[in-house]
This record gives sequence, C-alpha cells and structure tokens, in this order.
Amino acid sequence: MVNYLAMNEGNISEVNLETQTGVADIGLSSNALWQSVLGEVELICTPQSFRTFWLPTKLISFNNDKLLIEVNNIFAKTQFEKKFAPLINDILKKHGLTRPQLEFITSSTKRREHNEDVMVVETSKKSSGSTPAKFESRLNSRFTFDNFIVGSCNDLAYAAAGAVAEHPGEKYNPIFIYGGVGLGKTHLIQAIGNKITGQWPAKRVLYASTEEFVNDFIHHLRSKTVDEFTRKYRDIDALIIDDMQFIAGKEKNQEAFFNTFNALHQASKQIIIAADRPPANIPTLTDRLKSRLLMGMAIDVNLPDYETRVAIIELKAAHSSVQLPRETAEYLAENIKTNVRELEGSLNYILANAEMRGIEPTPEFAAELLANSRTARPKHITARQIIEKTARYFELKPADICSPARDKYIVLPRQIAMYLLRSELHMSYPKIANELGRKDHTTALHSIEKIDREIKLDITIREKVAEIREVIYA
Ligand code: ADP
Ligand code: MG
Repeated sequence: MVNYLAMNEGNISEVNLETQTGVADIGLSSNALWQSVLGEVELICTPQSFRTFWLPTKLISFNNDKLLIEVNNIFAKTQFEKKFAPLINDILKKHGLTRPQLEFITSSTKRREHNEDVMVVETSKKSSGSTPAKFESRLNSRFTFDNFIVGSCNDLAYAAAGAVAEHPGEKYNPIFIYGGVGLGKTHLIQAIGNKITGQWPAKRVLYASTEEFVNDFIHHLRSKTVDEFTRKYRDIDALIIDDMQFIAGKEKNQEAFFNTFNALHQASKQIIIAADRPPANIPTLTDRLKSRLLMGMAIDVNLPDYETRVAIIELKAAHSSVQLPRETAEYLAENIKTNVRELEGSLNYILANAEMRGIEPTPEFAAELLANSRTARPKHITARQIIEKTARYFELKPADICSPARDKYIVLPRQIAMYLLRSELHMSYPKIANELGRKDHTTALHSIEKIDREIKLDITIREKVAEIREVIYA
C-alpha cells in the first residue's frame, strides 16, 4: 500500500493507492484462484468438455476484479464468452469477488494492450468515428435500452434515461439514478452512453466507477500531470460515474470531481451518475457537491415485481442455446426476490449446468441446484471460529486479538473480528465485547460502526472482510 501523505505535502488525508498497484491480492494467488475455478468446473462438466475447453486455459492477468483469460482458439473464445462466462462469474463470486469482469483472448492475440494500464476496464469495440486517436469510452456494449425490461419498479428511471440519451446535456443534467444493488443502475447509465455513441459516433462518452475516477486523479497528482487529468475529463461530451456512494470523504478528490462537474455542466455536457442511495444520504459527500448533484434529476430504481422478474428471466434465457421451460422461469421468479443480479446469476448457473450435463432445466433441476448452492454455506459457525479465522488471516493468534494490546496491527483485526461477529452471528454488543475480553460494550459498538463505514469507502477493507468471510465458510 502506498500512503499518499508519505509522498506529498499538503492537506490531503491518507489515500489508499493499493488498488492502483496492479494485481489485487485476494488472499489466494491469482493462479491458485484460477486453479480453484477449474477444480469446481471439473466437478460439473463432462471430462471431454473439460479437456477441450478448460484445461488449456491460463489466467493472464488479474486487476481489481478484472480477469484476462487466455483460451485455446477463437472457437473456444466464443464458447467462453457466450456460455461459460456466467459459470465462471458465479464461482468467482463464491471466492469473494464482487464484480468479476471477464475478458478472453486467444493465445495468438497480442497482449500488449492488456498489460499496461490497469485503469482500462471495458473498452467499447466500436471505434469512436471521427475522433482523433483512440478514445476509450469504457462502455460495455452489452447494456442497452433494448435489453432492459421496464416495469413499475424502474419505468421513471428508464424514461428519464431515455430522454437524456436523446438530448444529452439538455434535459436532465445531471441525471442521478439510485437504488439497491443489482437493480439495473449500471445497466441504465451505460445504456445512456451506448445510445449516445450509437447516435453520434463522434461524441466522447466516458464511463468510470467512482474508484477509477478517484484513482485516476490520484495517479495524475502523484505523477504531477494534473493538467492531463483535467483535459481528459473535460474534453468529453458525457461523463458517466458509477457507484458514487464510494466517494470517500477526501476533500481533494471531491474537489476534483466538483471542478470537473462544474466545467462539464457549464459547457452543457451531460453528467450521468449512479449510486446506491440519493445524494442527501451519502454521508461522505460534501455539501456543495450534494447541492450540485441535486441540480438535475434524481430518480430511483426499485425491486422488480413478479411479472417483471419473469420477463427479465425470459429475456436473459433467450440468449442461451438451452431452452428454458416457462415453469422454470416462473419458479425462479417466485424464489429469487432479492435483486436482478442474483436472478441472472442463478439463471446462468442453471443454464450452464443444464448445458454441460445435457439435460433440460426443469423447475426440479433448478430447485436442486439452488438448494445445493445455498446450503454450501454451513450455518453453524461459532464465535470462536470467527475469531480464530480472523486472527489467522492476519497471521496473529486468537489470544492477540483478545488481548488488551493497542498496537495498530492488532487493532484492525480485532475490529474486523467484532464486525464479523455482529454481521455473521448477530451477537449483541455486550456479548461481542465479552468474546474479545472487553468489559465495555461501547468499544464493540464503535469498532463495528467504524468497519461498517470503512467497508463502504475503502476497497482494501472491503476485500479483506470478504476474504475472511470466505475463509470462515470454506
Ligand atoms: P446495479 O448497478 O444496480 O447494481 P446492474 O445494472 O449491474 O445493477 O444490474 C445487474 C444485472 O441485472 C445486469 O446484468 C443487468 O443487465 C441486469 N438487469 C438489471 N435490471 C434489469 C432489467 N430491468 N432488465 C434487464 N436486465 C436487468
Ligand atoms: Mg452497478
């Protein structure tokens, strides 16, 4: 981890640059991660398919949640993109990756372009028409208005997004779409971008997560090329920023966004933002940024109702070569009510399994698969196990965590252990304090609140907690 303060003067608080340094450490080495994916696949696919497609694969790089996987040949590449990707995604999620993004290349493809810049996420395959040089919109062409199902849960957001795509910079500026995870926010804001570039190929649309935007800013600050940053972000026609709730309370970063926002807004360039809650409820957002964001239109997306869920499943299943019986779609819609991402994940899992085993995805088959994947997590976990696993993860002894020591390298693990006791076992604060040899339950309360806050703001903490959870349930 690079501590920004250690390298620069100024009033900037500590900034975590770990996500910039390239390969993310997910506990397992990247290669071990890929091996474990292969291990799981081997259990469910035919030996022939495994030998033909899977054995020759290689994980080339792993940055943030993005995996670049080398496959045998162009035919295999299509199979992976069309059929196997959902299965890989599901397995990766079980290993704690929240948003895995997969890209496949064949052994003969040049790798040059993939290794250099960790900031490049998704590159649109389309060239941006007459614009000079290559402009990376980072849009994913998979997200369009055409393949977005509209229901009462999202019709207003859909209409507003459509209006913005038709009249960028004129209608609702900024447009701020908010709602819980997996409800189609990223899909909608990317659809706006794709529609704009579809209609006006010369328009420059840039999609970035809040983390990418902030990291990019820090990177330019560090290399003393802030001018370049400014040019890059102001020389565009539409800026799409995803997951705004992750904007940390770092004044300087918010200032970068504030300035970019003002410059674009004044030039009537479109700003498109998504977050998991409205601006007023993002505690880390400075007041002036909040009021800027409220200048346009803030609109929410909600959980889809049953009919919408069935429609989504049928739409997604239509892209598969496996025929999904209507009853199975209904079964899934009845049983998965959390969010669309989970619905999609389960559907893909079922389709991929049915395909590999060569059987029809009946409701019974779906039920069986879902039951297996749900019971994969044993429910009987003890406080002791959580403390032990957390300690081991940080290469400490349980006694260290339970000791009165205030050393920094012990305090964080202790706080995370408390957090997990609460999140996994729903223990009371006094009980948590007691487990860790504390008399005062307010320490537990504060520790848990602190980790709760940091998880939302700091990707390193988020990843650590996710990894420990995986170890606990492994
Ligand atoms: P969010 O950004 O809100 O967490 P996403 O936009 O990533 O959610 O959506 C999760 C998945 O669900 C994506 O694959 C997306 O295409 C799909 N999805 C969500 N809502 C819809 C919808 N109304 N119609 C079709 N697909 C949807
Ligand atoms: Mg999203």
